Amino acid sequence: MRKIGVLTSGGDAPGMNAAIRAVVRKSIYEGVEVYGVFQGYQGLVTDNIHKLELGDVGDIIQRGGTKLYSARCPEFIEPAVRQKAIENLKAKGIDSLVVIGGDGSYRGAQRLDEEGIKTIGVPGTIDNDINGTDYTIGFDTALNTIIDAVDRIRDTATSHERTFIIEVMGRDAGDLALWAGVAGGAETILIPESPSDMKEVAERIESGMSRGKKHSIIVVAEGVMSASQCADELHKYINVDTRESVLGHMQRGGKPTGQDRVLASRLGAFAVDLLLDGVHGKAVGTENNKLSATRFDKVFEESHMIDEGLYRLSRELSI
Ligand code: ATP
Repeated sequence: MRKIGVLTSGGDAPGMNAAIRAVVRKSIYEGVEVYGVFQGYQGLVTDNIHKLELGDVGDIIQRGGTKLYSARCPEFIEPAVRQKAIENLKAKGIDSLVVIGGDGSYRGAQRLDEEGIKTIGVPGTIDNDINGTDYTIGFDTALNTIIDAVDRIRDTATSHERTFIIEVMGRDAGDLALWAGVAGGAETILIPESPSDMKEVAERIESGMSRGKKHSIIVVAEGVMSASQCADELHKYINVDTRESVLGHMQRGGKPTGQDRVLASRLGAFAVDLLLDGVHGKAVGTENNKLSATRFDKVFEESHMIDEGLYRLSRELSI
């Protein structure tokens, strides 16, 4: 009988548990044995691989984090280290693997696929920075966590007539900052994909103040600069009372939203379907709300793009 393994890798994201549950339940539904690999690629190498039953994934669909734990395993780029991982899988008769993670995790998955383990990638990262899917699992939850924080900060910003600078996650991708900025009505959104002109930001704040605006909110992605650097830059051009808020790891945690749970359930089950159909070396996603599968090399072909139309709109609406 064919056996499937599942692991989570890279930064954790809300909804990873729902994806694990879907892989496990769909596999068992199809009469396939399924194994959980604990601690990502590190667990593959150290043989931390255990058979999972239906009950092992009960009561996790609503939980953030990942029951299988995640880990960074930099040595996985070494062919000899991956060979050990492959031997561990083969010793248990596991020939297929579902990797839930971000683009780094996909690179490991691609290597494994080339080296004989049939692999499918499932996009699990709050950053929404993976090609071949409209949304990644965890993005919607993190977005709503940030919106909640922005709403709360807005209350106090208005009361004290201050400019608040809110630093959100996103080293290379500005999706979280952009979407949260639009949804939270931020006056300024700074993302890595677009150059930041702090003089212009200061002018916008000044023009808002001159027409009686009581507060201003700047959402900055961590990859652009830190909130405190942003305040320093702003003070070069304008004398305003600023406060900084770094949201940090709270953005990663919490109950997954309905959107993320449904996406994770669809993609986890689809990954199993593909492996059973003999498809591998691909990453699953949804494009225009339809399930899709894209070859890993195609996923890596271009860097992630921001939604230019949404960015333009954010500027039009925050005049
Ligand atoms: P996130 O976007 O949330 O940070 P990620 O999956 O991109 O998630 P990374 O830390 O980049 O996170 O990658 C996770 C793991 O994937 C690494 O620790 C490593 O084990 C493996 N990995 C990354 N790049 C490669 C590669 N080129 N070859 C083999 N394995 C890799």
